[in-house]
Amino acid sequence: MKEKILEMEEYAQEHNVPIIEKKSIAFIMKFIKENNIKNILEIGSAIGYSTILMASAKDDVYVTTIERDETRYMECLKNVKACGMDKKINVVYQDALDVNLSNDMQFDLIFIDAAKGQYTKFFEKFKYFLSDRGFIITDNINFHGYVGNSDKLENGNLKSLVKKIEGYIEFLKTNEEFDTEFFNIGDGLSISVRKNEE
Ligand code: SAH
Ligand code: MG
Repeated sequence: MKEKILEMEEYAQEHNVPIIEKKSIAFIMKFIKENNIKNILEIGSAIGYSTILMASAKDDVYVTTIERDETRYMECLKNVKACGMDKKINVVYQDALDVNLSNDMQFDLIFIDAAKGQYTKFFEKFKYFLSDRGFIITDNINFHGYVGNSDKLENGNLKSLVKKIEGYIEFLKTNEEFDTEFFNIGDGLSISVRKNEE
């Protein structure tokens, strides 16, 4: 599997696929072990790099992952098979905002790593599928260091994207239902958990 992972890193580099940074995935894998996470929902599989590494964190981890791009979805399926992980990973080819999960699905961890401009929408849609003490982890919360500096940006598209991530951070900070911690690891990670009802 190690070899396959290296191959995926090379493929990502060559094809400009924004896979997670090594420090971030190492942090998440440790988090999965320490919190005894079993069922994971991932939004944004790309070629299955973070998917496969999360699924390999321990024996009893199962991942449902959603990808809307056909080429990446096919590549992801291929990689999951090559790593012998078909039984642990379910790859869904659809736009996450159109996916209808069955009501009885519950995840201990939801990993948001798809279109950065839609983070708030993903959070609001999928929080209903979180188990009682489940976590929502979001990647690229610093977005290459641009977050917090959007006013200085001149490129319109980039500026509006960064503004959306800033909006998501504000949404998390002022959220009445969830508490969020922010980590300066890799491209920035956040971990949200339901507030205690006392
Ligand atoms: N988690 C991967 C990287 C994901 S990159 C890793 O770290 O290895 C983000 C991916 O999200 C892209 O492949 C993109 O096609 C996908 N994506 C973006 N918006 C989406 C949406 N609304 N639904 C499903 N996939 C989406
Ligand atoms: Mg990412």
